[in-house]
Amino acid sequence: MANERPGRLVVVSGPSGAGKSTVLRRLLQCAPVPLCSSVSATTRRPRPGEVDGVDYHFMSVEQFEELRDSNEFLECFQVFGKDDWYGTLRSEVAPRLAAGQWVLLEIDVQGAGRIVQEFPDAVTIFLRAASLEELEARLRGRNTETEPHIRQRLKQARSEMAAADEYQYQVVNDEVERAVQEICDILIQSEKNRDA
Ligand code: 5GP
Repeated sequence: MANERPGRLVVVSGPSGAGKSTVLRRLLQCAPVPLCSSVSATTRRPRPGEVDGVDYHFMSVEQFEELRDSNEFLECFQVFGKDDWYGTLRSEVAPRLAAGQWVLLEIDVQGAGRIVQEFPDAVTIFLRAASLEELEARLRGRNTETEPHIRQRLKQARSEMAAADEYQYQVVNDEVERAVQEICDILIQSEKNRDA
C-alpha cells in the first residue's frame, strides 16, 4: 500500500573494501525505517557469483551511454578513473520514493555530491574502514582484484577519505553489528528531525 509521505534517499559512500556491502546487507534486514535498495547500472564485468539485476544491471558501454544520453540516470560517473561507468537509474529510485520508501544508494563521492544537489534532504553517511592498513588487507583478502586494480582502489580510497567531511555522518566499520546499529540510530534521528 502506498505511503502518504514520499520516501527519502540515504546515500552511503566509503572506500571500496571498507566492508560496505556486508554492513548495508545487514542494515536492510533491520532498518528502523522502510528502507530498500536500488540496483545500480555498471559497465564493469560481473565478479563470480554476482547476478545481473540483483547486484547490478550489468551492461555494455553502448547501452550505458544510450541511457545516459536519454537522461535515465540520476547520476553517473566513472568511479575509478577512466575505466568503468556506474550510475543510479531514475527508474530504480522514483517509484520507491513515491511509495514512501527510503532508498539506499551505495555510491561514490562524486555521485553523492550530485544526489545532494537534487535531493537536499538526503541523509548522507560516510562509512570508513578503521584504518588504511585494514582496508588494504580486506581488499587483498577478498581476492577479486588484480594488483593494479588494488593499487587503483587504494589510491581512490585515499581521495575518498579526504571527502568524508562533506557527509552529514561518518561511521567507522570496526565491527559490523555496531556500525549497523549506529546507522539505525542515524536513521531514527533523521526521521525525528524531519518531523521537528
Ligand atoms: P564495485 O566495483 O566494488 O562493485 O563498486 C565500486 C564503487 O562504485 C563502490 O564503492 C560504489 O560506491 C560505487 N558505485 C556503485 N554503484 C554506483 C552508482 O550507481 N553511482 C556511483 N556514482 N557510484 C557507484
